[in-house]
Amino acid sequence: MYLSVLKKVTIGLLMFTASSFSCLAQDLIASQAPTDRRVRSVDSVALQRLLDMQTYEHEADIYDSWDNTKAHPYASELIPDSFRIDLRGFVMPTPSTKVTSRYGYRPSFRRMHKGLDIKVFVGDTIVSAFDGKVRVVRYDAGGYGYYVVVRHNNGLETIYGHLSKQLVVANQEVKAGEPIGLGGNTGRSFGAHLHFETRLLGAAINPELLFDFPAQDVTGNYFTFYKADYLPTVSTSGRKGSSRMASSSARKGGSRYYKVRKGDTLSSISKKLGISISTLCSNNNLKRNSTIRPKQILRY
Ligand SMILES: [Zn+2]
Repeated sequence: MYLSVLKKVTIGLLMFTASSFSCLAQDLIASQAPTDRRVRSVDSVALQRLLDMQTYEHEADIYDSWDNTKAHPYASELIPDSFRIDLRGFVMPTPSTKVTSRYGYRPSFRRMHKGLDIKVFVGDTIVSAFDGKVRVVRYDAGGYGYYVVVRHNNGLETIYGHLSKQLVVANQEVKAGEPIGLGGNTGRSFGAHLHFETRLLGAAINPELLFDFPAQDVTGNYFTFYKADYLPTVSTSGRKGSSRMASSSARKGGSRYYKVRKGDTLSSISKKLGISISTLCSNNNLKRNSTIRPKQILRY
């Protein structure tokens, strides 16, 4: 889209400069060099603007709320059907390689364990896994204890629980590897450890699918999240959208995301995005007669 605008700007400028030169009855060949330079300089300004835009428009745009008080403020219906998470630029939250409890159902507690427990000692430094912004710094006596939630530029949110001390404040920007807290044994914890969660719009992802603690590495450069793997099917009827009908599309290496607005239909969206309804449907596991809801996120 930006490239076609760029092309139009360039063509327009070429036409403008050519006609102004011919009006002056100048030798077009002699004026070719300055024209070229002029077009090139406009190109680089427009390109720089394009690059700046991409710097600020990142995957975290899939979120439309910023809540400093709750670890889990999201409605499951906002979760995209699939989403590619860029894991490059990671730093392991702790150098500890010892996983003491895995993600999954715990029969003894009759509940899901939605994170990974890693052995750390009280006072061990815990760092942010990626660049991002601290969303929550709170205390949860019956659960996380002292915990920190960071929203990352790659769309992921990470939670660090049972800390003995929090070293950041809400709304603080952090870099990957920046200390955010110290290991501890607070909240629902029996023995010092780090409880580490990785979530996308609230959907818990097994951290071991992303991070290999024994190897101190990520599992790959990218991880593709599929909603179907993580949540029961979400009803497509019921719930009316809230009054905030924000719509946005976020650019993401190869894929873009569109947030459904009130009144949108698959047909109107496909026209707006310039793609066919069948492509839109196949990208999002939809049928032509599927109901779409405001704030739902579609990939295209
Ligand atoms: Zn845990």
